[in-house]
Parts: sequence; C-alpha cells; structure tokens
Amino acid sequence: MRVVIVGGGPGGYEAALVAADLGAEVTVVNDEGLGGACVLWDCVPSKTLLTSAQAFNTLETAPSLGVHFEGMQGQEVPRYEVDLPTIMSRVRDLAVAQSEDIGKRVRAAGARVVLGRGRVVGPHTVEVRPTGGGSLAGGAGGVERLEGDAILLATGSDPRRMDAAPTDGEVILSSQDVYRLRKVPEHLVVVGAGSTGAEYATAFLRFGAQVTFVCSRDRILPTQDEDAALAIEDVFERRGLQTIKKAKAAKVERVGDRGVVHLDDGRTVEGSHVLLTIGQVPQSNGLGLDEVGVATDERGAVIVDGVSRTTVPSIYAAGDVTAKLMRASVAAMQGRIAMWHLLGQAVSPLRWDAVAATIFTDPQIATVGLSELRAAETGIEVEVDTLPLAGNSRAKMSNRPDGFVKLLARPGSGTICGGAVVAGYASDLIAPISEACFNRLTASQLSQVFQTYPSFAGSIQECARRLAVRVQGSYRY
Ligand SMILES: Cc1cc2nc3c(=O)[nH]c(=O)nc-3n(C[C@H](O)[C@H](O)[C@H](O)COP(=O)(O)OP(=O)(O)OC[C@H]3O[C@@H](n4cnc5c(N)ncnc54)[C@H](O)[C@@H]3O)c2cc1C
Repeated sequence: MRVVIVGGGPGGYEAALVAADLGAEVTVVNDEGLGGACVLWDCVPSKTLLTSAQAFNTLETAPSLGVHFEGMQGQEVPRYEVDLPTIMSRVRDLAVAQSEDIGKRVRAAGARVVLGRGRVVGPHTVEVRPTGGGSLAGGAGGVERLEGDAILLATGSDPRRMDAAPTDGEVILSSQDVYRLRKVPEHLVVVGAGSTGAEYATAFLRFGAQVTFVCSRDRILPTQDEDAALAIEDVFERRGLQTIKKAKAAKVERVGDRGVVHLDDGRTVEGSHVLLTIGQVPQSNGLGLDEVGVATDERGAVIVDGVSRTTVPSIYAAGDVTAKLMRASVAAMQGRIAMWHLLGQAVSPLRWDAVAATIFTDPQIATVGLSELRAAETGIEVEVDTLPLAGNSRAKMSNRPDGFVKLLARPGSGTICGGAVVAGYASDLIAPISEACFNRLTASQLSQVFQTYPSFAGSIQECARRLAVRVQGSYRY
C-alpha cells in the first residue's frame, strides 16, 4: 500500500511511523523541517521558553527554603537578569534538534521525506513544488507527482490574522514573531486571553515585563474549567498582570516605536509591544480540495469522521487542518487512527470524551474528558469533588500551594468522566486521571491505585476516595 502524507507535524509524522511499521510505502511531503509548526514554531518553542521562565520559581522559593545566594539579605528574592538572546537561541537550537531527531526516526522507519509544497490534484495524486532550500529528485521542471493508494492531509494551521491589526514582526507580533525578540518588552499587551496568550503572558511576566491582557470575555481562558481559570487569574494578579475584561480589540496600529490597541468601546491600550493570540485557522487554502471533492466547513476545516476519513474515500485528514481540537496530541492520534483504519487494523473512533490537554501557565492547568462547563451545557449529571493542594504535604514542602485536583464522576456508577489539575507539573499529574477516564474506572478503583508518599499525585488518590464515598456510598471492590 502506498501512502502520501502532506504535512510533517505530529498529525503527519506519527501517521508515517505507524504506516511504515505496518509495511506501507510512505512518502511525507513537508515544506519545512519534520515536526511541523508544532516543533519549529508553536508547542516546542513555547514550552522551551517557559522552561527558562520556570527557573524563576527556584529563585523565588529558595529564600523561604533557607537557601540564600551571595549578596542577598534575608528573605528577599534575588536580583536576576534575563538574557533573552541566549534564551531565544536555546529555543531555536532545541526546536531544530527535535525536528532533526524526528526526521531521523521517520527515515529510519523506511519513509521517504520530500521537501516541498503539496497540492492534491486527484484522489490518488499529489503534486509537489519545491520550497526554498530543497531539491526534488525525479521531477520534471522541479515539480514531482506522487501517486498513492491513499493520501493523508495534515497541513496544520496558521495564526489567525486581523486586517485591522497587521503584524510587523517588531512591535505588533504574531505568536511566531515572539522568537525574534532580543530584549524583554517593557510593556507587552496581549490581545486574546486563551491558552496561547496565557502561556506567553506567563513567560514574559517572569522575565520582568509589564503585561496587560485584552480579554473579550469576563475572565481569561473562557473555555477552560472556571475554577482553574480563576486560580490562574489570581496568580497573574499577584504577579502584577493587568486584565482588561469584556474588551474587544477593533484595531491595532504601530505609532512610532509603540503599539496601540483600539478597543471597540473607544478606549485605547498602549504598550511597547502588542502580541496577537486570537486563535489559529486551518491551513487548507491552495491544497486543491474543492477540485477533488474534499468537503470543508465555513472555517476551511476539512470535515472528517471518527477514523479521520474525509468525503473522498482515498483521502484522510488529521490534526489542526480538521480544526476538531487543535492540540498536538489530538493531531497525532487522528493521524495514527487514519493509518490503522487504512491498513486494516482493529481501530475505534477517536475518544473525544477522553482527550487530555495542558495549558502551560504557572501553575499549569491540565484537563481531561468532560468539564463541569460542558456537563452543564449538555445536561449531563455529574458529581464533582475538588481538593485544594494547600493541604498536600509535598506542596507544603515545595512551597507551591497554589492549585487543586478536581474529579468528575457519573452519579450511581461512580465512573470517572473528567478531571482537572492545577499544579506545577499538572501536565504529568493528569496521567492517572486520563487513564481512569479512558478505561472508565470508578472513583473507588482510582482511589485504590497506589501513589507514592509524599507526592502531588497523593491528592488525586484522596480526591478519588472522597468522591467514591460520596457517589458510591461505600467502597465497591
Ligand atoms: C503557540 C502555540 C503553542 C502550542 N502549544 C501546544 C502544546 O503545548 N501542546 C499541544 O498539544 N498543542 C499545542 N499547540 C497546538 C499544536 O501546535 C497543534 O495542534 C499541532 O501543531 C497540530 O499538528 P499538525 O500535525 O496538525 O500540524 P502542524 O504542526 O502545524 O504541521 C503541519 C505542517 O505542514 C506544513 N504544510 C502546510 N501546508 C503544506 C503543504 N501544502 N505542503 C507541504 N507541507 C505543508 C506546515 O508548514 C507544517 O510544517 C500550540 C499551538 C500554538 C500556536
């Protein structure tokens, strides 16, 4: 079976690994390094940037733990300097190294990688035009035609742009322009208080910038668990971030060397820099989808079913281009499921009721499955228990009391159907809840899984125990 994959992000390269392992002849077409925007511009760079910001946690808590640095007095937080050029070159080097590692893995699995821009010209044919820096073997006039029994579209998404807010890469920035900064902005105005905005706000607050959020709703992270969003708002406020709520940016312009955001109610907000984090749009333009009959929705997202099939039987799609849920883990799973389905493996549709995701603020917010918000919107009855981390001995020892564990279970059965963790390493702590959700464990089963002591994970066990007693009345073994 020959498979042509257009796009080499997690949706594309994870599919390539699965297909190659199952014996398919795989070609991946990508217009930049493997790993895609995820590795080169979005997830990996932003998390590397945040790792530098996290170094401040050690500095901040050290005096209260009895560790003082030379020249410090008493409990004061040590003076520190942020070397942004070094941070940014570490970010870039790490992204490139990760991309190269993925390239090696994909080639070692037996897949062919073609550098260029792909366009679907038939249900089984992709035409590839070279992009800068790449050469194509065997293509007449530099254009190569690739034939496949199946095609997977995994072309990702681009930052959403506003005509009235043209970015210039210097003062008015998109999320991908951030890495050009060589000095910490004196005042960063972040337009859009979703997960990307919150992550960059976290980093630049730690680096010492004044940060202002322009937030169109009455709270930041409006689609997230409300308690989690409020916990992060509280931390942001304590660190000096200002939030302008119910404020919609109508226009953003550069005035001299500063950025000005004009709100639709007539107010203006000015900063040394303006960062636009107003979402992502699926990259389906120029792919030739209309001509071959691949249906898209009004946002340009490719319409797929639970096993990643599009409206053309030989064409699958995975990742942000489907705009189902724009996370790397979802893209990877959609890509793998597409190949398992194509290559005749036992496969179930993607479990949207068990997706886990993290927002890498500080503390982080990790969620899985059903949220309280969604349960209320859809009328699904749930029992909820929330346990603050302040009582956890590991949290006390670490001097990191902010955060909580929340579990959602179905009344009667006690089956875990969702959860949220706000904690320093919530991205890892969500794992046992994610497994419970996926495997439909009950609260009492989750409470009987061993966790080490002392650990943050102990709070998950305790929260599950409390929920089991409440929902199930007593333990059911
Ligand atoms: C700032 C930021 C931070 C994020 N952090 C996280 C995170 O921490 N965790 C998480 O799970 N998600 C995160 N996301 C979301 C995550 O980046 C995406 O969900 C993920 O990249 C989607 O993977 P993909 O394979 O669909 O596409 P991408 O990673 O976008 O890769 C698609 C690739 O295809 C290429 N391409 C496009 N068109 C063509 C064509 N015609 N021919 C050839 N190649 C083409 C693109 O250039 C790109 O290289 C973040 C997003 C942003 C913006």
